[in-house]
Amino acid sequence: MSNETTEKHSFQAEVQQLLDIVIHSLYTDKEIFVRELVSNASDALEKLRLRQLTDNDVFDPKLEPEIHITTNEEEKTITIADFGIGMTREELVENLGTIAHSGSKAFLKALNESGQKESNLIGQFGVGFYSAFMVSDEVKVYTHSWKEDGEHLCWTSDGKTGYEIEEAPGQRRGCKIVIKLKDECEEFAKEYRIKSILEQYSSFVPFPVLLNGERVNTIEALWLKNKKEVTDEEYEAFYKFTANTSEAPRFRMHFSADAPIAINALVFIPMENPERFGTGQVDPGVALYCRKVLIASQPKGLLPDWLRFLKGVIDSEDLPLNISRETMQDSALVRKLNQLITKRFLKFLEGEAADAEKYAEFYTRFSRFLKEGAVMDFAYREQLSELLRFESSFEEAGKLTGLQAYVDRMKDGQDVIYYQIGGSREAIEAAPYLEAFKARGLEVLYLFDAIDDYLMGSLSEFKGKKLVAIDRDDVQLEDLPEDSTAGEPLAEEDFTKLCAWIKERLGDKVEEVRKGSRLIESPAMALNADPMMTPQLRHMMASMGQETPPSRVHLELNPRHGLVKRIAAAREKSPELAKLVAEQILDNSMIAAGLLEDSRDLVQRVYRIMELGLGES
Ligand code: ADP
Ligand code: MG
Repeated sequence: MSNETTEKHSFQAEVQQLLDIVIHSLYTDKEIFVRELVSNASDALEKLRLRQLTDNDVFDPKLEPEIHITTNEEEKTITIADFGIGMTREELVENLGTIAHSGSKAFLKALNESGQKESNLIGQFGVGFYSAFMVSDEVKVYTHSWKEDGEHLCWTSDGKTGYEIEEAPGQRRGCKIVIKLKDECEEFAKEYRIKSILEQYSSFVPFPVLLNGERVNTIEALWLKNKKEVTDEEYEAFYKFTANTSEAPRFRMHFSADAPIAINALVFIPMENPERFGTGQVDPGVALYCRKVLIASQPKGLLPDWLRFLKGVIDSEDLPLNISRETMQDSALVRKLNQLITKRFLKFLEGEAADAEKYAEFYTRFSRFLKEGAVMDFAYREQLSELLRFESSFEEAGKLTGLQAYVDRMKDGQDVIYYQIGGSREAIEAAPYLEAFKARGLEVLYLFDAIDDYLMGSLSEFKGKKLVAIDRDDVQLEDLPEDSTAGEPLAEEDFTKLCAWIKERLGDKVEEVRKGSRLIESPAMALNADPMMTPQLRHMMASMGQETPPSRVHLELNPRHGLVKRIAAAREKSPELAKLVAEQILDNSMIAAGLLEDSRDLVQRVYRIMELGLGES
């Protein structure tokens, strides 16, 4: 009878790829399929509830918002049914046959790139439904949409190439998912097995869950409880449920307040940065509740964008229950909640930062978010600045320090915080800029992140102390006391002549050649004379194919350095070699400054210098 109405469909290519991974690679932790399907059932009930706020005529209106799970050992099946929003024919195709949401694409990409076969990635990226095929070769989804005129349908698939949709009269509203278990997975048809899985987290499902007719959960709004009444295990289970993960959280913050707004908040920082695979920005993960009733699961504007890595719940009884997603962002109350929680959270982090080692583990994974906040969000800039951490010339490799710690260590009379951006600690320490600071006992922070240039430019100061890169042209350092071991400098007059001569040879490549007061061991260094156009910005523009203005460079020479003295001497005797060496000094300095764009001349020149050095035959 059903033949005429049976529609055959094939899966979208990405779905097939996904299924292949789910079935063949993620074989540990098979039981997560229960969690995924129950979480979908819960979502469907939640969607129905929201629908009912505005729509009175839904199909099957008397059904209770419940989730029913039944196991059948003889037939080796498990059935998960909800009286939620259900699906129409189009929705079946779109939701179960294609990957519409970006999350699943991100999941595929992440798996491909990381080579990780973590099963908890499934939930994290929201590809939960397909996890049913970890335990089954035949999944049926019986459904009727909430819409009165919806069809009674059955979707069937073996999880391999495609699926069928046929009419199946007599469906109740919602979805009933019947899973025929593979032989090796028949344990999931046993009641005690499912019960123990459900016990782990179902108390946080906000609807009654019944297993073979018996209620298994009492609904718990953990966030409304007193801290003292909640155990670590409960917190962890709650986090795993809300974040849909099997990993424990890294940090948690639980607090309540009555004034100025009544608020209960329970938020978590995950173990890992959810954007670590470069798959773009994740959606906000803190849900908004009013007296245990979910208002929005991923509200935009409840917290600043840069806190999108947080998971958890915020409940405020002062919120009007009928607040819509659209008006949320304009609500003065939501804005207040936002401020209050953000401040509390930053305070909380400050507290956690007291344990430097633990904080460093968090920081190395999540610094991008804090930096983003410091750049974008003026209101929290100062607080966020205190939470930033960097390597430093005063610390060993790998150790981090903060701006406040730097200020506390500053020398008398120092009113500037020095930093340098480079590819690595080694690169920064090998460049000539650092030596003057070392000699004067001044601390320099080392920054390695691509956005640090932008960050420091935006901050520009910390507690009234300017942030200055040590390769800037206008750095002022006090004179060092005369050092008898440093050797005699070139006579003032000879040195001035040498600078003029070199400037003439180098022409437009440099704006100025002058005496360097910051040089100790190196013969020369190049200084970028255009403070707006940092080497990092230049590099970024070039990588985006944008035209960059020619660099404006000041070349500083060290009058005590042997090489400089010898050029002065060679100037008349072997002018060709002296000129080549001057050019080479400039290029070397440009490399250290990250400003050399074209190195073709350099190689040829070095050959010529070697030739002259060895004597022409
Ligand atoms: P996610 O839950 O992250 O969206 P899933 O793979 O778990 O991803 O589910 C895909 C989609 O299928 C859901 O977004 C939803 O639209 C639909 N869906 C799954 N289960 C149900 C259900 N029980 N009732 C209604 N729709 C469902
Ligand atoms: Mg899901």
